[in-house]
Amino acid sequence: EAVLQRDDARDWVRVRVPAKINLHLGVGDLRPDGFHDLTTVYEAVSLYDEVVAVPSQEVTAEVVGEGAGILPGDERNLAVRAARSLAERYGVASGVRLRLLKRIPLAGGLAGGSADAAAALEACARLWRLPVGRDALVEVAAGLGSDVPFCLLGGVALGTGHGERVSPVAAAGTRHWVVAVSEGELSTPAVYAEVDRLRETGVGRCHDDVSALLAALAEGADAERLGGLLHNDMTDAAISLRPQLGEVLAAGDADGAVRSLVSGSGPTVLFLARDGHHAQALAARLRLRGVARQVHHVTGPVPGVTVL
Ligand code: ATP
Repeated sequence: EAVLQRDDARDWVRVRVPAKINLHLGVGDLRPDGFHDLTTVYEAVSLYDEVVAVPSQEVTAEVVGEGAGILPGDERNLAVRAARSLAERYGVASGVRLRLLKRIPLAGGLAGGSADAAAALEACARLWRLPVGRDALVEVAAGLGSDVPFCLLGGVALGTGHGERVSPVAAAGTRHWVVAVSEGELSTPAVYAEVDRLRETGVGRCHDDVSALLAALAEGADAERLGGLLHNDMTDAAISLRPQLGEVLAAGDADGAVRSLVSGSGPTVLFLARDGHHAQALAARLRLRGVARQVHHVTGPVPGVTVL
């Protein structure tokens, strides 16, 4: 009973949130509102940020790990914006201090900022004891960024609209990925602008048919079959802005990856492995080559924001 009482009186909340990858990223035309129409299949993978929320007068964030000393703790931080928007929506007068333990690289195409925003929404809703369910949080999330609703949900999901409209997808089995994190960042808006520029010159088009991929996921297809169905419309634009990406992709092919793919807007590169052993061997070879700043072996799918 004493333990229960202590737990009940606990005035902090700790959550973790996964990075996302896109098994398919179909980029449509630029809309008048500045967004692109997307058809994407998201998968949450086992590379996590953690967010601890403690009561405070103001809404602030403090960053440890990836982005420490670079990422500001004020409203430029997506986690702070998420907390503020939740407080405004529900008329909360209290603040929060968010401690972000970041392992997801910044501007790497893994939606680290969106992940922190999703984590902050869940953590603050609990800290402030708001009577809100996931659906209400997903609605607030959609106003914060295209990938934020998916980061709450996790698993595998189809994303439409500009990515913010998500519906869960049945996906059997576990996939093993090697994630190669490159030095430096790639700005997502810059990569979209390059997609538009290349299309004006006749290079690239939108791929929005995900039916074969969805069928393969439902059937628990093996890596060989799935590998042939992965697709990213941002690949050419990301390589155009960062030609070294071509070398990283080629390194994975040479080292035996089932499939090499740019993650989102890059510069992170993903390699699909046959199984856990294959992923470990592949990761070891890629580390020896020194083509990336970090090489992680991750699995997917994993759940979205989880309270620890
Ligand atoms: P996506 O795949 O969704 O395009 P990304 O992985 O390329 O995202 P993020 O790391 O999500 O990029 O963030 C991009 C930019 O957002 C960063 O360069 C940074 O300036 C800003 N940002 C704001 N808050 C955060 C945060 N908590 N974590 C990371 N970036 C943040």
